[in-house]
Amino acid sequence: MKIMIIGCGGVAQVAIKKCCMADDVFTEMLIASRTKSKCDAIAAELKGKTKTLISTAQTDAGNVEELVKLINSFKPAAVLNLALPYQDLTVMEACLKTQTHYIDTANYECENTDDPVWRKNYEKRVKAKGFTAYFDYSYQWDYFSEFKKAGICALLGTGFDPGVSQVFAAYAQKHFFDKIETIDILDCNGGDHGYPFATNFNPEINLREVSANGSYWEDGKWVETKPLEIKRSYNFEGVGEKDMYLLHHEEIESLAKNIKGVKRIRFFMTFGQSYIQHMNCLKNVGMLSTTPVNYEGKEIVPIQFLKALLPDPASLGARTKGKTNIGCIFTGIKDGKKKSVYIYNVCDHQQCYKEVGSQAISYTTGVPAMIGAMLVVKGIWQKAGVYNCEEFDPDPYMEALNKYGLPWKVVENPVLVD
Ligand code: NDP
Repeated sequence: MKIMIIGCGGVAQVAIKKCCMADDVFTEMLIASRTKSKCDAIAAELKGKTKTLISTAQTDAGNVEELVKLINSFKPAAVLNLALPYQDLTVMEACLKTQTHYIDTANYECENTDDPVWRKNYEKRVKAKGFTAYFDYSYQWDYFSEFKKAGICALLGTGFDPGVSQVFAAYAQKHFFDKIETIDILDCNGGDHGYPFATNFNPEINLREVSANGSYWEDGKWVETKPLEIKRSYNFEGVGEKDMYLLHHEEIESLAKNIKGVKRIRFFMTFGQSYIQHMNCLKNVGMLSTTPVNYEGKEIVPIQFLKALLPDPASLGARTKGKTNIGCIFTGIKDGKKKSVYIYNVCDHQQCYKEVGSQAISYTTGVPAMIGAMLVVKGIWQKAGVYNCEEFDPDPYMEALNKYGLPWKVVENPVLVD
């Protein structure tokens, strides 16, 4: 099978290496990204270590025509989009034009939220939806009928969260519950990279997500909170006691649609005090703004400039020690009785580094990206239309997680989050 991977950052580098380990499935790969030298470097690193035939190309994933030409020249079975959420729609358009399956790990987000045309549309969507986050699934779900008509599949958000979190939900629904009532997604990173401040994945996307209003789904509607307003603590296996904060997160939107009858869905992520202080300070001085400013005759987008100053997440691998623990606590009903189940994965930063030269955040995203792509190209997870991970049979995905480096555990009657 031929796979085309777009992007060559932290997550893509893991997915590329994992696809090359599965060279019986991925026999040919085109790595296409903005900076070709990064694609060439990883191709050189993998030379002689895989049977996958790798080629590389420079591309602007925001340019549909350019992508169409590239896809037509390589003819992949699927495109795995691991660039930024800003490019989701253009890559989907190119897949539609070339009738190629599409896979990504994060939902569409507008790069310039001050763009007046986008802003008008956004305000309409906010009214319809009830939450103010700049990212949501509606932009990509709007492509459903076109993908269906073209007979191709778009698999959205196959990272860890979104991604594995939704597969855990589908697995809990299939094997443990007649009805799921509540879902708490807990994302804990107990890793330490030794820098005063750095983000574990793309800083622009990460800081926009964390500094935004939080929200959760309850009794059929959204409840919004101020940024980091709701704090809880939890004792995570492999990490210990950590503070965690409620965030708006994209899979809440799709789980609310697809897990019928669910009463509440929340998403919590752990942060240390130092991270929060740095982020608040950067926000207060305007460094998280996406609005261009004129500095000495040159237009600069503050958050993009900040990204250039911060450590590249792909470079954190060697320094990061500790573990991640990401999973979901479900409560609900089985055979008329109340029940609770916790499904989670513990991943060690240093073990990831040993295996693929990356830290665990890129690893826990890149491995599910490869698994999603594998299930689509093999036809195991392939339906015409646009789908989220909980809309497919979870069993083959759960099996693949165990096989490809993200083993999971199930605990009954876990400590619940209040
Ligand atoms: P990086 O910034 O490390 O990598 C992004 C890559 O995309 C870079 O190689 C960059 O090129 C390339 N790129 C950016 N713009 C373009 C463009 N216009 N055309 C072509 N290539 C482009 O990000 P990460 O690897 O950390 O994240 C990748 C994706 O994974 C993001 O969408 C992120 O939100 C998502 N993610 C999902 C998670 C999940 O659990 N679901 C968790 C973590 C991340 P260049 O090298 O030139 O900068």
